Amino acid sequence: APKTVLITGCSSGIGLALAVRLAQDKQRRFRVIATMRNVGRSGALAAAAGPALGRTLEIKQLDVCDEGSIRACLDSIPGRHVDILVSNAGVGMAGPLECQSLTAMQSLMDTNFFGLVRLVKEVLPDMKRRRGGHIVVISSIMGLQGIVFNDIYSASKFAVEGFCESLVVQALRFNVAISLVEPGPVMTEFETKLYEEAERADYSRTDPETAEIFTKLYLRSSKDVFTSIGQTPEDIAEHTLRVIEAARPPFRHQTNVAYTPMAALKHADPSGALITDAFYKLVFKYDTVLRFSLRAIRLLRWKAQKVKAGVRLLGFK
Ligand code: NAD
Repeated sequence: APKTVLITGCSSGIGLALAVRLAQDKQRRFRVIATMRNVGRSGALAAAAGPALGRTLEIKQLDVCDEGSIRACLDSIPGRHVDILVSNAGVGMAGPLECQSLTAMQSLMDTNFFGLVRLVKEVLPDMKRRRGGHIVVISSIMGLQGIVFNDIYSASKFAVEGFCESLVVQALRFNVAISLVEPGPVMTEFETKLYEEAERADYSRTDPETAEIFTKLYLRSSKDVFTSIGQTPEDIAEHTLRVIEAARPPFRHQTNVAYTPMAALKHADPSGALITDAFYKLVFKYDTVLRFSLRAIRLLRWKAQKVKAGVRLLGFK
């Protein structure tokens, strides 16, 4: 029988692409419950799903910030039976801390972190009872490594990672798998929304130097990064499908090889000096048009290889 997959945040981006990819699976392995906060925004998904809509894909309302709506959605599913939960809904935030309100930060945490917690609290007991299931979480490379001016967003994804890393062992006991998908930059509304917010922000709340670093240096480089190494939501959907169909699903899966050196650098030097220094130089020292460019990432990779070689030389591995 096809597996029931519930996905959150399907009105756009990765959620939409994944819902469509799974619903159009040639082997018809999935029955997709594509959820969104506002079903009035289902036009793009319905159009992309085509004839799958009403067959292998159905659209339901679910707001990850509202326990009642999560429960109502699950109660509407026969036997509350969800084989695979994909926690995808999320929001971004970038800019100087002083320009962001605490209310906005709390709202981001409420979506990105507590949204996942609410879903898991509702779905996990059923999965444990059935001794089977898979919780797939769209995290981010920023859940492994902080990036300048993404302080709050990164903190929310670290929270997600810590939560899953703790829970995975207990879940395993009940034959429930947990997987974190960690994309780098992906070209979706997420990015557009960030730039729109950056346009509207009140930079008088920070000092002119910080404002300049963010608006001149960061925003420009960020756009370059997205166009040079950014992936499409369809790419992330393919990666997520691989995680879903794996006989033994990985706990972590990074979608963009350009980012693996970051993780390597971080783990190679527990004091954190190496990675902080590398990022500092990346942002403030390298005089390239694309500061966060492939060239810089290649440098990071080279540094990581040197560190790895050093570790091997010392006979630790
Ligand atoms: P997106 O903005 O297109 O999609 C996010 C979706 O979540 C939207 O449809 C939005 O309406 C929905 N959402 C927001 N709050 C919600 C709520 N309370 N309840 C239900 N749905 C809600 O952006 P995306 O890039 O597709 O983002 C999907 C996930 O991927 C997010 O968790 C994001 O953090 C993560 N991610 C994105 C990128 C990127 O560069 N775009 C990189 C790494 C990770």
